[in-house]
Amino acid sequence: MIKNIVLILGAQGSGKTTQGKLLAESLHYKFISTGEILREARESKNPLGLKLSEYWEKGDLVPDELIESILFPILEDFDVPGFVIDGYPRNLNQLESFISFLDLNAWPLIDAVYLEISREECFARIRKRAQIEMRPDENDEAVAHRLDIYYHETQPLLTKYSEMGKLLKIDGHPSPDEIHKNIVEIVNTKTKLHADD
Ligand code: AMP
Repeated sequence: MIKNIVLILGAQGSGKTTQGKLLAESLHYKFISTGEILREARESKNPLGLKLSEYWEKGDLVPDELIESILFPILEDFDVPGFVIDGYPRNLNQLESFISFLDLNAWPLIDAVYLEISREECFARIRKRAQIEMRPDENDEAVAHRLDIYYHETQPLLTKYSEMGKLLKIDGHPSPDEIHKNIVEIVNTKTKLHADD
């Protein structure tokens, strides 16, 4: 069974989770957030959860093999027409494994939707969110570290998506409703074109 893949990416605070969920709903795809999966595993306080806490609280990425051993079976198991994935791939190594995984299954990568916002705006939004959600990795130090990792390891993937003809850049500053409309217009056309291939 073919499963279409749409990636949603952007710095922490760019609104990618909100937009990913809205997009998944519109396309009738399943929304997957690796951050959310890891938060749930961590809260269960089993051996895997405790191991995850070590990376998590410092704002470090968890090892690639670990995230893939959790994520890939989920993607295989759900019987859905597609996924909107938030939080993966996070670095070049993960992108390479993911492309092999997609090729193996013959699942198409439709788009990598990138929400563009400034670093200052990211910080301001995360501060606001931290006051509401009390996430342990959202203190100033961990946030700065997570943003550094993002700019060093994840942002370079944009060049790859662009070379693959998959990059869709969207301005992340307007209202959530407006951003959603802008994304859906383009992604919807592409998924329909793909279905007609
Ligand atoms: P997020 O909510 O996407 O910002 O993810 C929160 C935390 O989960 C990150 O700071 C990482 O520790 C971990 N994480 C999420 N996705 C990945 C991934 N693809 N690879 C490695 N670590 C990840």
